[in-house]
Amino acid sequence: MKKVCKGLGTVLVLLVAIVVIRASGSAQLDAPKAPAPLSVQPSESAERLGKAISFRTISHQDLSQVDTGQLTGFHQFLRESFPLTYAKLTVEMVSEYGLVYRWQGSDATRSPILLIAHMDVVPVDPGTEKAWTHPPFAGEVADGFVWGRGTLDFKQGVMGIHEATEALLAEGFVPKRTVYIGLGFDEEVGGVLGAKRIAAHFAALGLKFDFVLDEGLAVTKGMMPGIDSPVALIGIAEKGYLSVELLVEQDGGHSSMPEKETAVGILAGAISRLETTQMAAAIDGPAREFFDTIAPYMPFGQRLALRNLWLLEKPLTWKLTQKPATNALIRTTTAPTMLEGSVKENVLASRARAVVNFRIRPGDTVQSVLEHVHAVVDDARVKVNPGEGAADPSPMSPSDCWQFDLIEQTIREIYPDAVVAPSLMLGMSDARHYAPVSEHLYRFAPMMFTDQDRGRVHGINERIATGEYAKVPHFYAQLIRNSSLD
Ligand SMILES: [Zn+2]
Repeated sequence: MKKVCKGLGTVLVLLVAIVVIRASGSAQLDAPKAPAPLSVQPSESAERLGKAISFRTISHQDLSQVDTGQLTGFHQFLRESFPLTYAKLTVEMVSEYGLVYRWQGSDATRSPILLIAHMDVVPVDPGTEKAWTHPPFAGEVADGFVWGRGTLDFKQGVMGIHEATEALLAEGFVPKRTVYIGLGFDEEVGGVLGAKRIAAHFAALGLKFDFVLDEGLAVTKGMMPGIDSPVALIGIAEKGYLSVELLVEQDGGHSSMPEKETAVGILAGAISRLETTQMAAAIDGPAREFFDTIAPYMPFGQRLALRNLWLLEKPLTWKLTQKPATNALIRTTTAPTMLEGSVKENVLASRARAVVNFRIRPGDTVQSVLEHVHAVVDDARVKVNPGEGAADPSPMSPSDCWQFDLIEQTIREIYPDAVVAPSLMLGMSDARHYAPVSEHLYRFAPMMFTDQDRGRVHGINERIATGEYAKVPHFYAQLIRNSSLD
């Protein structure tokens, strides 16, 4: 018995030693080289961004509601604001209001690169206009900010890219790789008319891009517990999407004499089962790469867990599922969103309906989510109808390649104190439409994003600090310069 105890003790000591050794070695960021300056006057570029905001290029699910005059007005504004860009680059309209720019590179043997952005914005919720400190479409520059719809999502990107090309052209810069720019106009409603057709246009030309950079993730501050430095996230994949309608139809009638089980009760049971029986979580794919990358910058305790997934994966997975933000990173989420029953309090519902929205992690598919729903609902009285707009998760782009390194290096030049990590984008963007023309799709917008800003995107008081906006043209210019180095 003594021997066994001794043996077990030795194993335990060894185990602890391995766990601690694996956790040792925190990382320090090295100082990146300072980027070459870019001659853009921050107050002038902020004014131009304000002007861009004043075009109400609002996307609507119902296309007939779109004010296309605002889009053509915006096109005209771009042409007038960036004369060098329009003189030296070939600019084409693709799919009515989409724009494609081509900046010829000096080395025809190189593959081109593609920067994409979208000109449209979401509407302002009716009734909330009064809550804005500055009106959403006035484009005012005040109190150190540019205010309005699109200052974060994503006219600062559209304008930042133009400011970059204009300033580089003024310097006489010629890129080595040909630079393409693709501007969609319906990203907020799926990008099917804009980005998807622009991508098809590129595919028809036989183009293959070294990489595509879209909006998506950003430089976050204070959102990663235990890390004081900003963390810049590059999306290497985006989650998929599925809405499922649950429908129960029964004889209605007067509520004074109900059946034992009503349509509403049957539906509620199905929703409840879906909430309690979630799809499995796993620390793999982009989430795994994210945690592997940030582990060295985390405090000892968290580092210990992240570096020892071989032993601690189960408890760590459970811990991560306890917070919505980390839960969404490692599993397909289940969100009941819409609910309908009877229209009167004393009438039994003849039709009870709910919609459950799933965001699908890489590893699951639309098909596997549907199978999960059928298995969990497990009630023939509940019809399960998949909704429109379903999409599998995007393919995962590599992070161990020169393209990722190039974007990382550029981020570090503009945000020298940022830790850069690959991650998973929870929402959807135009990038996925470009999968046929590049294996390297990355989602990163050069902007500092705090918890406070989260509610401003698509919300009230969307704004960008002028000091932060000044970095946007610089980032894109640096990216173009860096892609010309080798
Ligand atoms: Zn956007």
